Amino acid sequence: MIRQFELVERVKSYDPNADEDALNRAYVYAMKVHGSQTRESGDPYFSHPIEVAGILTDLKLDDNTIITALLHDVVEDTEATLKDVEQKFGKDIGRLVDGVTKLSRLELQSEQTKHAENFRKLVVAMSEDIRVLLVKLADRLHNMRTLESVKSPDKRRRIARETMDIYAPLAERIGMQRFKDELEDLAFAQLNPDARDSIQARMEFLKRTGEDLPDRIVGQLKRTLAEDGTEAWVSGRVKSPYSIWRKMQRQNVAFEQLSDLVAFRVVVESVEHCYQALGILHSRYPVVPGRFKDYISTPKPNGYRSLHTGVIGPERQRDEVQIRTREMHEVAEFGVAAHWKYKQASQQVDGRQYRWLRELLDILEHASNPEEFLEHTKLEMFQDQVFCFSPKGDLIALPRGSTPVDFAYAVHSEVGDTCVGSKVNGRMVPLRALLKNGDQVDIITSRAQTPSPDWETFVVSGKAKSRIRRFVRMKQREQYGELGRQMLQKAFRQEGYEFTEKAIEGVRKKFHCEAAADVYAEVGQGHRTAREVLLAVFPGVKDSKKSDTIVPIGRARARQGKGKDSAVPIKGLIPGMAVHYARCCHPLPGDRIVGIVTTGKGVTVHTIDCETLERFQDTPERWVDLAWDVVGEADRLLGRLYVVVANEPGSLGSLSTIIGKNQGNISNLKITNRSIDFFEMLIDVEVSDVKHLTNIIAALRATPVITSVERARA
Ligand code: MN
Repeated sequence: MIRQFELVERVKSYDPNADEDALNRAYVYAMKVHGSQTRESGDPYFSHPIEVAGILTDLKLDDNTIITALLHDVVEDTEATLKDVEQKFGKDIGRLVDGVTKLSRLELQSEQTKHAENFRKLVVAMSEDIRVLLVKLADRLHNMRTLESVKSPDKRRRIARETMDIYAPLAERIGMQRFKDELEDLAFAQLNPDARDSIQARMEFLKRTGEDLPDRIVGQLKRTLAEDGTEAWVSGRVKSPYSIWRKMQRQNVAFEQLSDLVAFRVVVESVEHCYQALGILHSRYPVVPGRFKDYISTPKPNGYRSLHTGVIGPERQRDEVQIRTREMHEVAEFGVAAHWKYKQASQQVDGRQYRWLRELLDILEHASNPEEFLEHTKLEMFQDQVFCFSPKGDLIALPRGSTPVDFAYAVHSEVGDTCVGSKVNGRMVPLRALLKNGDQVDIITSRAQTPSPDWETFVVSGKAKSRIRRFVRMKQREQYGELGRQMLQKAFRQEGYEFTEKAIEGVRKKFHCEAAADVYAEVGQGHRTAREVLLAVFPGVKDSKKSDTIVPIGRARARQGKGKDSAVPIKGLIPGMAVHYARCCHPLPGDRIVGIVTTGKGVTVHTIDCETLERFQDTPERWVDLAWDVVGEADRLLGRLYVVVANEPGSLGSLSTIIGKNQGNISNLKITNRSIDFFEMLIDVEVSDVKHLTNIIAALRATPVITSVERARA
């Protein structure tokens, strides 16, 4: 057990301004209130908080963190209250101790859903101050180191399981590799002692037969680098039994086939030296293909940076080498704690600087159940950027939350404008899917595609946003223009004049417009009336007799019957922009309709027999003939799909849900083949056009239970 003066000395060695008095008082106080309590091992209880504090001095954490470690169990396990702690050590310490206490209480909850629930609250607490988490992890590490003294095997397993599932991943998240390795290995020893024993026995055996092989390699690597004038600190680290075990499982190989049990580390002065050292090693030794990774230019999400490579080294065996600077090394080992140290000067030590925590919290708030939450936390979400690859291997950095559409625009504006679908890691995904670090994204384009205003609701990158918005605005203008032209045509016709573009050209300057098209758009948007323009062209037009120019409902109805020639197709107008549906009559596709133009608002669509229309009888120039682009069944297209679906409960349900969600209508479904594991079927889907069908196909392909979807062409 670390003695009092020893602990204080340690803290003072890296933090000369540490509050010596408070450290001393905390040490004494912890001893006093834990009193004669003992742990299951029979050790005095206070040895535990003192060891936890000791672990944290290795990370060179500040005096308040060390004091918190000393006091972390007093509220939970002794007579002392939070108030006592606050009074004796101040509000800050009180807050930190309270954070750790809350975490400890959560561990005592029931078995069910405890993992995710604990995790959830743990993260909530941790987001208030990252130091709470550091103390908690050190606490868990010490408990794992002394786990053997816990008598109940069930309890040992439970603690080990929790360590494996929650704490080791958390340590990894915040980059504390050393904590993570040790936590994992201690848990592994508990959960699968046989596997661990046999791996260790093998490693011992190799060590005996290979003698000082790693040491010899270290020496030779060092000499090789020195010969080329690169000063380096080289070491060899034997991998942990658990990481070896996992590799054996993942790659399905036997122990003998694992060549790189030792990772060699080359620590140099600067980033330039890293690449220099890499160059030297690559020119001296044969390079193992596929092992080179540059985490300096592309750091891991938890901040890890290093160059990785594999060479057939000095002893003619495969060596894994990691090259980094001293700072990178510290971050690699201690993660957040190292960052914390570097940031200490600026006093910005709370968790708020970790944006990923905030995002975690967001998901916590919105995940409906703990399982879903755990699912989400598997995503790497703690960085404000994601890095994805093109099929050619180009690296593309995007803001967090980016989708394939963002990716497409990042590749090229034109790729963005014409994208119709995307494959992520070889699998079709929806265009609005979230991209994750390391995803390989393949964009499918089609000349026929144009940006959808819909995309604006989910893209996050500035480039995609501005391109889509520009396109939408242009498109909107085109549509207002078309509307305005038709309104003018009608106004001219009503007065018995011929409408020509030439006539408008002649007066456009009067309206400060650069082209006739701009005049149309002004009218379409309602900034000018058609009559104004008419009067500009034919100043002689008298205010005509109203009764003649009214479009009586009957006439409108009659004209509607003539066909679609004069009608503005509703489809194609951007919803919510130029067209509104009247609340009085709720027009539906198939209804006969008419539009009323309102200044600055666009067109409101009414059913032809809506009573509201009477109010507009005096302003015939505001009436527009409209028709639905899709008039009932006949105009719907039928697409036939050949679909293979997994024969699982609910799979047919999700099939029809997806088609429904995408506004498709199943008109016929025929199962052509039914086997134990799959259904094959033909489905007829009513769609509005081919693009609609393509969308439905893409959505189906993105669904796990659906194995394949093709257009059936027969
Ligand atoms: Mn504890």
